[in-house]
Amino acid sequence: MTYQGVKFKTKMLGSEIPQDLRLEGLKDWCKKFHHYNLAPPYEGGSYGNLSFRLQDGQDQFIITGTKIGLKNELADDCFVRIQSCDLEKGTVYAHGMREPSSESMLHFAIYHQRKDVNAIFHGHCQKILSKASKLKITETVKEEPYGTVELVQGVLDILNDKSFLIMKEHGFISLGKNIKEAGELALQMYKKC
Ligand SMILES: [Zn+2]
Repeated sequence: MTYQGVKFKTKMLGSEIPQDLRLEGLKDWCKKFHHYNLAPPYEGGSYGNLSFRLQDGQDQFIITGTKIGLKNELADDCFVRIQSCDLEKGTVYAHGMREPSSESMLHFAIYHQRKDVNAIFHGHCQKILSKASKLKITETVKEEPYGTVELVQGVLDILNDKSFLIMKEHGFISLGKNIKEAGELALQMYKKC
């Protein structure tokens, strides 16, 4: 059997639907990610997850729910609020109507380490991956299964003050001080490829 890594668990603390004016902006970028195929669809969902930090200096954020098809008109209940994560226990604490994205712990770890980052967009794009070395984009050292503690650690190891990086054989992460900046950086990299 292949090594699956340590997947994190989600604990739902409540079912209230996120309410925030910035959700509309995030929904627009979900559509754009689908349009440019930066989060390719699969049966019942899309390969990508987008989030923004709720308040400066705090680690709470809103993220796309798991198995959300970004091609769809997304209602507010497609999004989940992450209250906190316990990286050691591998547990994510969330509020919402559905389970949060399988990469919620990755988003949390980045917000925790980088207080200058207020939006994180993760997508899958073969074009960007194949041009990584040509465009001098930093890549994680090793391929790790999605949703694992090992994947999070691999990203933290290379993060420093970077705003765009690649998870080996997996996908890209685009960071911004706001939603617009994270989105435009991803599009800019895509257009370079
Ligand atoms: Zn992914």
